[in-house]
Amino acid sequence: MAAPAPVAMSAHHGMSGHEVVLLLETDPHRGLNGDEATERARRFGLNVLPQPAGAGLLVRILRQFHHPLIYVLLVAGVVTALLGEYVDSAVIFGVVFVNAVVGYIQESRAEAALQSLRAMVHTVARVVRDGRERTVESEQLVPGDLVLVEAGDKVPADIRLLRQTELRVDESALTGESVSVPKDDVVLPDPTVVADRRNMVHSSTLVTAGTGAGIVVATGAETEIGEIHRLVGAATTLATPLTAKLAQFSKVLTVGILGLAALTFAIGLLRRQDAVETFTAAIALAVAAIPEGLPAAVTITLAIGVSRMAKRRAVIRRLPAVETLGSTTVICADKTGTLTENQMTVREIWTADEWVQVTGSGYAVDGVLLTHDGRPASIETNAALRWTLLAGAACNDAALTRAGERWDIVGDPTEAAMLVVAAKAGLTPESRAESFTRVGAIPFSSERQYMATLHRSDRDDDVVLVKGAVERMVELCSTQMCADGSCRSIDRPAVLEAAEGLAAKGLRVLAIGVGPSGDPVEFTENALVGSMTLTGLQAMLDPPRAAATSAVSVCHSAGIAVKMITGDNAGTASAIAAAVGVLDDRTGTHGMVLTGADLAALPSEEFPEAVERASVFARVSPEQKLRLVEALQDKGHVVAMTGDGVNDAPALRQANIGVAMGASGTEVAKDAADMVLTDDDFATIEAAVEEGRGVFDNLTKFITWTLPTNIGQGLVIVTAIALGTSLPILPTQILWINMTTAVALGLMLAFEPKEADVMTRPPRDPGQSLLTRALVGRILLVSTLLVAGAWWLFEWELANGATLPEARTAAINVFAVVQSFYLFSCRSFTHSAWRIGFFTNHWLIVGVATQAILQLAITYLPAMNTVFQTAPLDVGVWLRILAIAVVVSVAVGAEKWLRARRTAQ
Ligand code: ATP
Repeated sequence: MAAPAPVAMSAHHGMSGHEVVLLLETDPHRGLNGDEATERARRFGLNVLPQPAGAGLLVRILRQFHHPLIYVLLVAGVVTALLGEYVDSAVIFGVVFVNAVVGYIQESRAEAALQSLRAMVHTVARVVRDGRERTVESEQLVPGDLVLVEAGDKVPADIRLLRQTELRVDESALTGESVSVPKDDVVLPDPTVVADRRNMVHSSTLVTAGTGAGIVVATGAETEIGEIHRLVGAATTLATPLTAKLAQFSKVLTVGILGLAALTFAIGLLRRQDAVETFTAAIALAVAAIPEGLPAAVTITLAIGVSRMAKRRAVIRRLPAVETLGSTTVICADKTGTLTENQMTVREIWTADEWVQVTGSGYAVDGVLLTHDGRPASIETNAALRWTLLAGAACNDAALTRAGERWDIVGDPTEAAMLVVAAKAGLTPESRAESFTRVGAIPFSSERQYMATLHRSDRDDDVVLVKGAVERMVELCSTQMCADGSCRSIDRPAVLEAAEGLAAKGLRVLAIGVGPSGDPVEFTENALVGSMTLTGLQAMLDPPRAAATSAVSVCHSAGIAVKMITGDNAGTASAIAAAVGVLDDRTGTHGMVLTGADLAALPSEEFPEAVERASVFARVSPEQKLRLVEALQDKGHVVAMTGDGVNDAPALRQANIGVAMGASGTEVAKDAADMVLTDDDFATIEAAVEEGRGVFDNLTKFITWTLPTNIGQGLVIVTAIALGTSLPILPTQILWINMTTAVALGLMLAFEPKEADVMTRPPRDPGQSLLTRALVGRILLVSTLLVAGAWWLFEWELANGATLPEARTAAINVFAVVQSFYLFSCRSFTHSAWRIGFFTNHWLIVGVATQAILQLAITYLPAMNTVFQTAPLDVGVWLRILAIAVVVSVAVGAEKWLRARRTAQ
């Protein structure tokens, strides 16, 4: 078959479905055949959006110069050149250039890290090929493919609909309109604009309700969204609240420092000092006091945090989440699949006349049904049991497949478990198909809490089968079935009591019912109420995840409350919550279980208080999740909330950290989330919080490390000007120190492993500034010692016959060596460098060695001596420098020790 003409040119919305099928040479029911799909994939390429145009290399490098500090340096470079100080001027421009290159490389690496995360979250599409439905990666779709979409999906390509049922699509990605629009399959006039093309669904839009099937008419760059991507270019933003705050801070700082420098210059002139020297001093002050390495360090630390989280299976979709994670105070987690395995096995069946135990585990059809006295239970002698199994398996969309010894499931685990137990009793799909054909369905939804199907029996009668939450089913049923197949009035208290007993064991309980038979029966939600017969209950085990219990306890010791939010029943939820430690007598939250009904009945003024105290929320509807998040936020909490369904999207957006399930979640939920868990596991959220705290620690450590250099150097200059003496360090030397130490030493802190106690301290207050009072004290201590040390050595060397270049070289080496020593102290806020060990971050060793080589170069290489006006030093000077560094380290160690003692008291 020849591949069809390029598809994007045809106005598919203006054609009938049949015409589209003909044009694209496909089949409306069987789809493409596999060979043709392969051929088209070769011809049309992968269905991926084009990479955004992005800024070119030159623009990106030029962007590095767009910082207030760089302006200051550029002006300084030009003025220095005008004054005839060509070497100094060249050094300043050299530094600016190196700064731009380093900034560019870091920015590119950070962006690459974020880009690669996208590939970690796959989107899949349901496609019909060779007449068989299958799941493929969205990028494998080709024009002509027959694709099925349903609520929760992200539309994988531009598709002309052939069939649809109550399909609604959120097209905000394309049109900006956030209200979801209904779809149909009528032919539209050719000039219809994209937003009104009701018979099309477009790539990247989100299905919010209903189902549909249609033919792919455009993929990748040819889609409407592809066009937009190419034109606009979706830039990856590296900005977070913190980087914005720091950018603002550095602007204010620059202006302040410039003012101070101008004042210095004016004072110098008034004192009739040499204009060139005074100007040099003013520039020295400006370049000394500005922390050049800060923006780069923040970006790189965040980027490293993001990739560490990705390694632990938490994919960050929005960068600010990295910061927020560290201050999370409450995690609201789903039960099924997040705290539990979502691996269901039916363990017990209750019918009006008999309790049945089921043996076996997992989805393997290995096991038997036993009565309470250990005899095999028979579906021949107990009609209620037979119907409970039969209806559970027939009112069901899941499938079991067998590959050798392994059983796999397709679809919902709850439903798969019902297929397995039916098969254990001998009711195979083949035997069921003989007696029933499904002719209608009311699908399961979390709001409805049941699923109903209409079947035509072999005697041509219609029969309704229902399964769902027990509370909901006792409303639908007015009678219950006995072992002999007869019906009597339902004994609701007995049913609920049985269900509670099962739930208390942590089992998930579903009730099963059969409806009126006849020809025809009315198959609507209303007609079902009160007309059904309850046949029995199936109770299934969904084991808690192995890592959940320890992750919950880590959260508790980190001062983070964990709340379980589930659509399941209060009894089951409480039992599982107790098993994983969410409900714990010792934490004083025992008994705090609220149901959706309790929440609805709470007066609004009591709502936030009650929500804060409870730790299990059962039978909660997705709408109530949104209220829960808002209430917790009202109480000042930073909330992480998990979700997987379409209706969870508003709550995910409202939460400070919306967490979607990568494996089982819908595309709509992933789209609304800040973070996606590729393994759906609760422990992964805890791991991400841990990494988030680590990121913040490392940022703080960098700042605590870098500021003393800036403050110290600034103070040295100000003191020199005030005393009217010559500068102990020159502007170019200051630039050297700032640039080399920031890159070789400071950036290595971004690779610091997390401290052992990150998860034993309380969460950081999001409003709290980066620097606590204790850290400010530390910074001032080190700054003062640095100034004193550098100044003392400078004067001492001069007094002992050294030349000015020699004394200055000694002073700059004081800064470099003290900063190298201090780097090790900054690795922990509380512990000494000895306690952490010197080799736990190899990058630090590499950095210190590099800095040492650079310092030897600037001290001993003749060319460097000329450029930077330095001079070689003898061993005695180095010993004095080392002595100063040791004094500073001992002082910082003593300060940590004293503070620790004071806190312990
Ligand atoms: P979580 O919110 O923790 O994921 P959940 O999976 O129990 O919990 P829902 O999927 O909203 O939440 O299910 C709510 C209730 O509906 C269940 O407790 C169960 O009784 C019933 N139920 C679940 N799945 C089905 C299904 N496929 N068919 C019929 N009823 C179901």
